[in-house]
Amino acid sequence: MLDWNSPIQYLKGVGPSKAAQLLKLGLGTVGQLLEFFPARYEDRSMLKSIRQLVVGECETFQAQVLAVTVKQVRRGLSILNVLVGDDTGAVELVWFNQNFLRKKFKIGLTVVVYGKVERQYNLKITNAEVEVIHEGDVFEGRILPVYHLGENVSQNMLRQLMKQVFALNIIIDEILPEEIVDKNKLMGRSEAFYHIHYPATQQLLEQAIERLKFEELFLLQVALLQIKSEKQRPFSGVKHGVDGDMSRQVLVELPFTLTAGQQAALKDIKADMEDSQPMQRLLQGDVGSGKTIIAALALIKTVENGYQGAFMAPTEILAEQHYHTLAQLFAPLGIKLGLLTGSKTKKQKAEICHLLRTGLIDILIGTHALIQEAVEFEHLGLVVTDEQHRFGVNQRARLQEKGQEPDVLFMTATPIPRTLALTVYGDLDVSLITHLPPGRKAIRTFLRGPEKRAAIYQFVRTQIEAGRQAYVVCPLVEESDKIDTQAAVQLFEELQAGYLKEIACGLIHGKLKATEKDAIMKAFYENELSLLVATTVIEVGVNVPNATMMVIEGAERFGLSQLHQLRGRIGRGSHQSYCVLIAHNKQSETLERLKVMTESNDGFVIAEKDLLLRGPGQFFGTRQHGLPDLKIANIVTDVAILLQARSAAQQLIHSQAVSHELQKTLLERFGPDFVILHN
Ligand code: ADP
Ligand code: MG
Repeated sequence: MLDWNSPIQYLKGVGPSKAAQLLKLGLGTVGQLLEFFPARYEDRSMLKSIRQLVVGECETFQAQVLAVTVKQVRRGLSILNVLVGDDTGAVELVWFNQNFLRKKFKIGLTVVVYGKVERQYNLKITNAEVEVIHEGDVFEGRILPVYHLGENVSQNMLRQLMKQVFALNIIIDEILPEEIVDKNKLMGRSEAFYHIHYPATQQLLEQAIERLKFEELFLLQVALLQIKSEKQRPFSGVKHGVDGDMSRQVLVELPFTLTAGQQAALKDIKADMEDSQPMQRLLQGDVGSGKTIIAALALIKTVENGYQGAFMAPTEILAEQHYHTLAQLFAPLGIKLGLLTGSKTKKQKAEICHLLRTGLIDILIGTHALIQEAVEFEHLGLVVTDEQHRFGVNQRARLQEKGQEPDVLFMTATPIPRTLALTVYGDLDVSLITHLPPGRKAIRTFLRGPEKRAAIYQFVRTQIEAGRQAYVVCPLVEESDKIDTQAAVQLFEELQAGYLKEIACGLIHGKLKATEKDAIMKAFYENELSLLVATTVIEVGVNVPNATMMVIEGAERFGLSQLHQLRGRIGRGSHQSYCVLIAHNKQSETLERLKVMTESNDGFVIAEKDLLLRGPGQFFGTRQHGLPDLKIANIVTDVAILLQARSAAQQLIHSQAVSHELQKTLLERFGPDFVILHN
């Protein structure tokens, strides 16, 4: 008797070699096969005839193969042309450099074609998905599942396997609590699996999809909320006292007053710190909204209460900058700061670690060097992580473990859209700084083509002649430091010899030694350098209020959120700032996307667009973002179901009715790693 966990090889027709091919798709067991959801469906009961096809739409139709030709246009370019037709007309199918597809098409075969219909004299589809229909194929005349295929795994084979599994009546247990299934009018689990692969009607298919999306999001929310409530077990954390002299003195000496948003955030943070439950708070505020000072005030509070603080930043440049900002702020208070980055010598590191262990450093600032084993605090009371989205979830967890349930503050300038915040940070409390400090002028952003470079750089000159400073950001070539560096060097040399002749320019990129980076940044801070050619190493944090101009070359290579971060380096002082995006590629989609930047300075608006355009994985740009792999739900588009699932999860947790079985499911689904990652 087969069950959910049986190896897929136990199914008929799956020998060792097929099993290996299926395994490449992640299909090793019957359960994994069942959870291999179709990528889309074809309603064969509604197939159009060729005459009914709509140009510009993705369409599915059935036809006969009429002719097959391969043309070798020139070296490296061959075109495969397949003419298919029915009683009402013909369509030309075209592939470039895919001659191997040729053997699939025999004249007279019946095929089902899917693709975007175009018209160029004749109807035409480029790169169509084509399935050859044989007599006796399964599921004929129904709504058909279409799966993503792997090497040597055909649609028909997957459909056969699914059919076999359902014929075997494999038991699929309900895992959601009965009340939740009833209350949310969900389809039963076993039924949902059947109809997602083998939908009898469109309506049943929709119910099946909804049920499985709900299940996935519900489990995720239960897991996240559980972690959160576990963290809130009483009396286990550091309990800070109310504000003392130090906190008051710093506030008095600040050269500005805090904005309403900063004050509200600070109030949240102080309340959390004064509570015995460990703080787990995310401070979100657009670039330039003034998060650093909030972190500084929280760090003073912990020192004032006799604890040590840690402040972790994602880059050396930023860590150094924080060190200098805090050193200035804390100088009158006698607070002792340490700076720990990867580029300190062994001896320096040992010295810092020693001072830290013995309590002679009050606040340690640094990069992820902070989470190395040798770093031990005497009594860590507060951990702050800046630009938290740049760290892996486990990196942030490791810093916390250096204390006994210290308070934790995460800061991020990547405004995380609400749906993502609920999913990734479902376990955190959130404070939001919505407004920038007063007196900032909105950055004016322009989108231009490379033919305008002469005029653009002339404008850069006038800014510099007026005493301002500028950044030129090099296009991101690929995920390789080395190649990006070469490109940066090249651009620097080109500009310095051409458009920017006789201007004091510096070049900064990831391959420089820390001391070289320091020297260049210092020269830029002090306005000895007027212009900085840079890679994305300046993306986060860098704060030079006199810089009012940024040119981003090859802007199409960046995500919108990243462009917004980069642009956040200017507009930090009282002078008008300008950002010019140079698009080297002029496809309409590219220009459309970049136009968002010229229309908005609001990080939230931009992030929402970015997320929609690129999806959550790329949005964070790293596998370490802590997002679980979702098989069917889409946290961007399934907001309604997400909110419904979240509220069901909240009720369940609230009534403490998480059953043993559900607990087991959570562990199986997310693994112990997930719990650790989110802790
Ligand atoms: P971010 O939130 O991007 O980290 P920073 O903390 O670097 O922003 O702050 C940006 C700049 O704004 C800094 O120069 C800081 O001194 C200044 N700043 C912060 N808060 C205020 C305020 N309330 N009024 C005026 N300037 C402020
Ligand atoms: Mg910052």
